[in-house]
Amino acid sequence: MIKLIADLHTHTVASTHAYSTITENCRFANEHGIKLIAMTDHAMTMPDAPHCWHFHNLKILPRKIENVTVLKGAEANIIDYDGNIDLDGETLGYLEWVVGSYHKYTCKPSTVEEHTRGYLNIAKSPIIDVIGHPTTAMFEYDMEKCVKAFKEYEKIVEINESSILYKRGSRQNALELMKLCKKYEVYISIDSDAHFHELVGIAPNAIEMAESISFPSKLIINSDYDMLREFIKRKKPQLDI
Ligand SMILES: [Zn+2]
Ligand SMILES: [Zn+2]
Repeated sequence: MIKLIADLHTHTVASTHAYSTITENCRFANEHGIKLIAMTDHAMTMPDAPHCWHFHNLKILPRKIENVTVLKGAEANIIDYDGNIDLDGETLGYLEWVVGSYHKYTCKPSTVEEHTRGYLNIAKSPIIDVIGHPTTAMFEYDMEKCVKAFKEYEKIVEINESSILYKRGSRQNALELMKLCKKYEVYISIDSDAHFHELVGIAPNAIEMAESISFPSKLIINSDYDMLREFIKRKKPQLDI
């Protein structure tokens, strides 16, 4: 039975279509065995995003809230197929964790070739830690080619519970993506993408899917705290986690 100990993609009230504070998220996480969450509100080109000062001031938050370690991050929007995102250098300087995602509001869907080129470029970006919900039907791409690149550049591939639940085609795509990550031994993260505290760390559909294909837990980066911490510390040795 897969048990999650971290959630690397969560939202707070700073994204206006999310409804809980960081304290509420952490309190719920703590009560449910989640030891670490990444706080990843939408970067600025999303219509519901906070002002950039939200990100610039993350430094005032303690490392632990309600006994849960908090990584101060953002969900960046990938804005083209050349590997660009909507976070400037100054803002990035304040961030410890970046999920990079395609959203139709901030990048116009194009062809399979262009989407593939986009993901291959994002794979190479040293800024991105997690490839956010790469299962969206309208951004179809050559999964096999990109999964190999995600492995080469040590990106975590996200299996996103909210997408499985609410985005057309994502369930089938997530299963295909998981099979490829298993084949090529690529780390995945099963994330909630919670927009309400009672969803933090909760991902029964993604977990059931992983179990149905006997996905190895040694490749689920957020199923073991020591494995996750080691991964993060190797990439970000300056972080005090
Ligand atoms: Zn997203
Ligand atoms: Zn999100």
